[in-house]
Amino acid sequence: MLTGKKALIVGGDARYIELMKQLLLYDASVYAIGFDDAEEELTGVISITEQKVDHTTIDFVVLPISGVDEEGFVDTHFRRPSIQLSDEWFTSFSDDCTIFTGIMTPYLNQLSESSVAITALMNRDDLAIYNSIPTAEGAIMLGIQHTDVTLHDANVVVLGYGRVGKTIAKSFQGLGSHVSVYARSDADLARIYETHATPITYDQLLNAASTAHLMINTIPKLVVTPEVIQKLPTSCFILDLASKPGGVDFRFAKKRGIETMLAPSLPGLVAPKTAGKMLAHVIQMIIQDHE
Ligand code: NAP
Repeated sequence: MLTGKKALIVGGDARYIELMKQLLLYDASVYAIGFDDAEEELTGVISITEQKVDHTTIDFVVLPISGVDEEGFVDTHFRRPSIQLSDEWFTSFSDDCTIFTGIMTPYLNQLSESSVAITALMNRDDLAIYNSIPTAEGAIMLGIQHTDVTLHDANVVVLGYGRVGKTIAKSFQGLGSHVSVYARSDADLARIYETHATPITYDQLLNAASTAHLMINTIPKLVVTPEVIQKLPTSCFILDLASKPGGVDFRFAKKRGIETMLAPSLPGLVAPKTAGKMLAHVIQMIIQDHE
């Protein structure tokens, strides 16, 4: 339980609505900035502005999964314009206050170097693995919508075999796709082989690309290079799940007439309730462990 704790939610998407409901169920007091245009009634949530926060009383702050951009802006799906926060705003919380973000960004890295403690939720394997489930469901949805073949029997090339890549590969295998996975470590290639998917090195990726119906990138580095795109059939759909700016040379794909999509925050889109519950569960565990 979070009885007596004061939570401040700053921006976020639909999963944060469920997160707030769950925090109320854990008996926390919940303050929210950036939900002015939410259609759902947020009974029990206290709506405030960033200027009105009493920093000394807040026990934990939850920033959006995407964190804070270079200029201090946070993503607000339910308020326009979005919120801009300053270094001073962050440093005004007490030393005991926990600040959660989804992922670290250069702005947050710089803040944490100047002594503001920040906890990146997606650095935790448990949450990243839970989160990979709605992400894979979203990838299936987009794969169905943007290809003209069944996923059953389709050639699906997955790049990366981390928390998201593993779930994506397994989910598409379950649908009967022929799944090839590019990974750079020998251990990952062995594990991919063990799961009956086809392990591919970078050189083999060029070959696998030539028959791909769907290419799904999970690597947050430029890996879907012009060299790879050159090999793809023009009917292939490239779905980039990696955090911004993604790992695809979008310019060259467009030049070749290949459809691409950078699709961030799929859990918030396809399963905000489940994703919000997972977030609340992990935040509650972390706060209780701190005590
Ligand atoms: P992860 O567990 O850290 O996996 C990243 C994978 O990328 C690993 O297999 C890693 O290989 C590989 N990799 C990293 N740099 C590489 C490089 N230069 N060359 C080749 N491979 C490289 O991360 P994750 O949790 O799977 O998340 C993957 C990405 O998806 C992140 O950007 C995350 O923010 C994003 N994401 C998006 C959504 C969405 O809705 N779109 C949802 C969840 C996560 P090694 O193990 O060899 O380093």
